[in-house]
Amino acid sequence: MQNFIQDEYKSINFSKYSSIKIGPIVDVKIINKIDDYKGYQIIGRANNLLVSQKPPKFAILGEVFDYIKEENGKLYVGCATTSGKLLTFLRKNDIANLEFLAKLPGNLGGLVKMNAGLKSWEVFNYIDKIKTKDGYIKKEDVKYSYRKTEINTIIYEVVFNIERGFCKNKLKEFNHMRDNQPQQASAGSCFKNPEGDYAGRLIEEVGLKGFRKGGMAFSEVHSNFLVNLGDGTYEDAIYLINLAKSKIKDEFNINIQEEIVIY
Ligand SMILES: Cc1cc2nc3c(=O)[nH]c(=O)nc-3n(C[C@H](O)[C@H](O)[C@H](O)COP(=O)(O)OP(=O)(O)OC[C@H]3O[C@@H](n4cnc5c(N)ncnc54)[C@H](O)[C@@H]3O)c2cc1C
Repeated sequence: MQNFIQDEYKSINFSKYSSIKIGPIVDVKIINKIDDYKGYQIIGRANNLLVSQKPPKFAILGEVFDYIKEENGKLYVGCATTSGKLLTFLRKNDIANLEFLAKLPGNLGGLVKMNAGLKSWEVFNYIDKIKTKDGYIKKEDVKYSYRKTEINTIIYEVVFNIERGFCKNKLKEFNHMRDNQPQQASAGSCFKNPEGDYAGRLIEEVGLKGFRKGGMAFSEVHSNFLVNLGDGTYEDAIYLINLAKSKIKDEFNINIQEEIVIY
């Protein structure tokens, strides 16, 4: 008898699934084994995405990649594991350094690809190696910088160095830093901070704090958050992103770059 595994797909409504609440309903491939998925764009929990009506073919990691194991002084974490689940494990097992993941939404694949973080704390600081279809790659062999990595393949697993001493005070501090975060739907910071400056300050300086187009606006609370006021569309969001880019270029000669990933 022929033994074949049928491809598994899941219908995802991006206007519900994504944190910015925009996008179409599409079938997304579920990945259950390590392989080369050419032609598919991997995504995580869509906390950093702005998805158009005509996106590429998406894939997400299935449950087999949702695990946390401690072995020989290292932490092996599957890339479908959410930041919340990882943080709970770290607290229970008294592991230090990743307290900044508090209220930083995403799964580990997205967090590592984006080198997510808060101020100077970033995920890559604590990584030993990552696993791709080509096996383990040491951190030293990966190009990464502020909110950026040059990983252009699917990350399946991340291995962290372990240091004991989960710090509840740090956790409190990180939670507190988010007090001024807008409550409306968003994809987090819209732009990366340019060197030596803040994207939020520049947006404010060019008069776009609170500026609205259709159902989208640069937040009154934190200018660098592009928020969905309820019925915001992809087109509204793109209009505001381009407007901010051109005004900041004209007034400050700075080419500001999106942190949001647009598909
Ligand atoms: C309210 C709010 C607050 C936020 N605060 C912060 C913050 O403080 N700091 C910060 O850095 N970010 C922040 N973000 C942005 C977001 O949480 C992070 O970028 C997070 O890492 C996204 O994870 P995700 O699983 O949702 O990835 P997605 O948004 O689904 O994808 C992001 C990118 O990662 C890639 N990717 C996903 N999975 C994999 C994988 N397995 N292998 C390779 N590539 C992959 C995707 O292709 C895409 O390019 C915030 C977002 C929100 C909504």
